[in-house]
Amino acid sequence: MSTRFVDIEALEVPLKAVAKLPIQSIDHHLEPWIARACRIPESDVVRYLIDRRSLDARGKPDLRFVYNLRAEVREDSPVNEVPGISVRTTPPPLDHSLATLPLAESLPLHPIIVGAGPAGQMAAYLLALHGCKPLVIDRGRDADTRTADLEKFHTTRDLDPESNYLFGEGGAGTYSDGKLYTRVKDRRMRFLLEAFVAARAPRHILWRHHPHIGSDILPHMCKHLRKQIEQWGGSFRWQAAVQDVVVENGRCSGIELTNGERISAPLVLIAPGHSARDLITTLMRRGVEHKAKGFQLGCRIEHDQRVIDMGQYGCLPGRDLPKHLLGAAEYNLVSRPPPHAKADHVTTFCMCPGGEIIAATSDRGQLSTNGMSRYARASSFANAGLIVNQAVEREGDGMAGFDLIERLERAAFAAGGGDYTCPAQGATAFMRSEDGPAVGSSSYRLGVRPGRIDRILPPATVTALREALKFFDRVIPGFLTKGTLVGVETRISSPVRFERNPETLASSLPGLYLAGEGAGYAGGIVSAGLDGLRLAETILTGKPALRER
Ligand SMILES: Cc1cc2nc3c(=O)[nH]c(=O)nc-3n(C[C@H](O)[C@H](O)[C@H](O)COP(=O)(O)OP(=O)(O)OC[C@H]3O[C@@H](n4cnc5c(N)ncnc54)[C@H](O)[C@@H]3O)c2cc1C
Repeated sequence: MSTRFVDIEALEVPLKAVAKLPIQSIDHHLEPWIARACRIPESDVVRYLIDRRSLDARGKPDLRFVYNLRAEVREDSPVNEVPGISVRTTPPPLDHSLATLPLAESLPLHPIIVGAGPAGQMAAYLLALHGCKPLVIDRGRDADTRTADLEKFHTTRDLDPESNYLFGEGGAGTYSDGKLYTRVKDRRMRFLLEAFVAARAPRHILWRHHPHIGSDILPHMCKHLRKQIEQWGGSFRWQAAVQDVVVENGRCSGIELTNGERISAPLVLIAPGHSARDLITTLMRRGVEHKAKGFQLGCRIEHDQRVIDMGQYGCLPGRDLPKHLLGAAEYNLVSRPPPHAKADHVTTFCMCPGGEIIAATSDRGQLSTNGMSRYARASSFANAGLIVNQAVEREGDGMAGFDLIERLERAAFAAGGGDYTCPAQGATAFMRSEDGPAVGSSSYRLGVRPGRIDRILPPATVTALREALKFFDRVIPGFLTKGTLVGVETRISSPVRFERNPETLASSLPGLYLAGEGAGYAGGIVSAGLDGLRLAETILTGKPALRER
């Protein structure tokens, strides 16, 4: 049958209209809505591909899904072309740009990738796809062993500094909400998401606005990515902490592990995450060019998920609309206080609807929070970081930032009693500099106990958080009055950025590439993965791969 294509923008589907349908997801049953928008019979709609789905809650509790999609309809179908609906005769070209790169004449065989987080993983993925057979080295363990190590941590409270929520297969994002959005606009995004889908991430991450994967699926996805890299000739080594690079004739020629073993390679790409303070400071001391950069810290806030649902949706999933149609609500808030308030901006960070707070730390005697959610986002708690930019001495080397982070984490650990119990303070008590009543229940599995977060965090951060809490309570009623602060939260971004040669994207040490969050070029799973892809593309083509829309 001959067909043609129709681009449809902003196709609205009210949730109430589909709430009673016996279906799991309306995404797969849009034919009647497409037909109605185009004013054609439903039987003329052959198939469709969703580009994007978002939720419009401006008229809450009247919620709508809004789709941008491309429908394929019968060629003779009398499509009513109005603004937002346009017919095209040829399908748009598919983007295979990363799979079919114009490769440089000689490619590095068996390059070393240090770090199996999103940046290292995706760099290895692209290098392996093009036949380079990378060796990926990580100080942590494979996802299955790491999951078992984390269970042990929860029962013994004995933190393994090499296998924890930050170190091991998949890096810092393996036990997270797995939110996959970024402000970075990059044409490599589709390739990244398709690699995740091929590794068994839910297919709808390709089109949903603010998609997420969930901490129950992410470890499996990381394993499948690893298997794909191995099938293409790559290999992995776990429990292998890199302590230094090997330099010969002014060029990086390999790495040295903490047991003294040296491994040579034509090229080394290190994607260590921001918690690898040991390796990062070694590279700094070696003179690899770098600068101090701004970083953030703050604490986490937790609510009953229903407070957030009512604030964002004006209704409750499970009570007013089926949960499979409408998941736990999220938020993304920014406070920009007026100059006379003399307070810094605060943003919410890594919000986990229906999630739990976890101990995101890799150092004994130190405590920092973060959050994760399973795919179903079904817990009764919502949590998010509340983070404040920290002023840096622009002339400094970043060590002051690392020192501040360590000091705060030690103070939080001590305030929790020294066994990874976390200090917590009601948000109202935080506003009033009071001990406040004992905090209620929390999703943090190692337990919370009353603590003065207002005394642990730097005074300017406390001032900023207080201003922000007042503002956020106006956006989501109950945000302040029903919130509990838990924390501190410090593992957010690196206080250091390593310089890159604009032509090669290599570091100032030839043969050494530094990628992802630990290098100061990413803040999140997607931006770290994209950074790994950009470096790999540069290595493969010999031309700098820029961020491109
Ligand atoms: C609990 C938690 C939840 C998060 N949730 C989200 C989210 O939902 N969405 C989102 O976008 N971002 C989230 N983030 C942030 C995101 O995980 C990071 O931005 C991202 O993982 C950074 O990727 P990376 O590859 O640069 O570094 P990392 O993921 O940190 O990976 C670094 C890897 O290097 C290894 N390594 C370190 N030092 C050495 C060494 N010396 N030798 C060998 N190996 C070494 C580590 O073991 C680790 O595997 C979350 C972070 C945490 C901690």
